[in-house]
Amino acid sequence: MSVTLSIPEHQTAILDRIAARAKLAGRKPDDICLTAVSKQQPDERIEAMLATGQRVFGENRVQEAQHRWGDTFANARPGLELRLIGPLQTNKTVDACALFDVIETLDREKLAKALVKTREKTGTLPRLFVQVNTGEEPQKAGIIPAQLDAFINTLRTQYDLHPEGLMCIPPAFEAYVGQHPGQAPGPHFALLKKLADRNGISKLSMGMSADFEPAIDFGATHIRVGSALFGTRTPRKI
Ligand SMILES: *Cc1c(COP(=O)(O)O)cnc(C)c1O
Repeated sequence: MSVTLSIPEHQTAILDRIAARAKLAGRKPDDICLTAVSKQQPDERIEAMLATGQRVFGENRVQEAQHRWGDTFANARPGLELRLIGPLQTNKTVDACALFDVIETLDREKLAKALVKTREKTGTLPRLFVQVNTGEEPQKAGIIPAQLDAFINTLRTQYDLHPEGLMCIPPAFEAYVGQHPGQAPGPHFALLKKLADRNGISKLSMGMSADFEPAIDFGATHIRVGSALFGTRTPRKI
C-alpha cells in the first residue's frame, strides 16, 4: 500500500484519538483544532490530506510555505487556514502577513514593531499567538516565562496588538530521558496554561505527534501534528 493511500487513515486515527482524549479530559472534541503540519512533505501527501477535508495547515518557513500554498496549491487556498509555527525574521514579515491567517511565533518587540508597520500599510494583520520558551532552552525561540506578562502588556498598551493564544514547544523527549528521568512534557503544558489564564488569553497551541494527548489534558486548543499524519518528512535540500 502506498503512503498516499494511508493518509486518510492516519487522519481518521488522529481525530479518533483527539476525541477519545477530550472525552477522558471532560472536554469537547470540537474545542481542539488539529493543525496538519505540512512542512517538508511531498505534494502527493498534501493532496491526499486536502482530499480528506483537512483545512488547517501549519508551516515553519515562510518561503517554503509561499511555494506550497501560494503556488503549487494556490487553488486550494480559499477556505484554508494557514498557521506559521516557525520563527519569523522581521524582513519576512510582509510576506508572512500576506500568506498566513495566524502567526504563532510572536516572541520579541522587534517583531511586534514590524507587524505594526505592516498593519499600517495594509490595514490588516494575521491573528497572533505568543511563543513561550517554557524550557528556557538557549537554542529555542520564544519569550521566557518570567518576561511574558510584561511582554503581553507592552503588546497591548504600546502596539495595540492583542494575541489570542500562547504557543510552546517543550524540550524534546530525549532531553527528559537523558537529563531529567521521569519528567514529562506535562509541567510545560501546565505552565503555558497558567501563563495564559493569568493574562486573560484563551487559546493554547501545544502538543505534537508524540505528546498531543497529554497536551489535551492540560487544555490545548490547537495541536500541531506532522509526522503522525503525513509520515516521515523529507529533509530539505539547501
Ligand atoms: C515540525 C513541527 C511540528 C510537528 O512535529 P511532529 O513531531 O512531526 O508532529 C509541530 N510544531 C512545530 C513548531 C514544528 O516545527
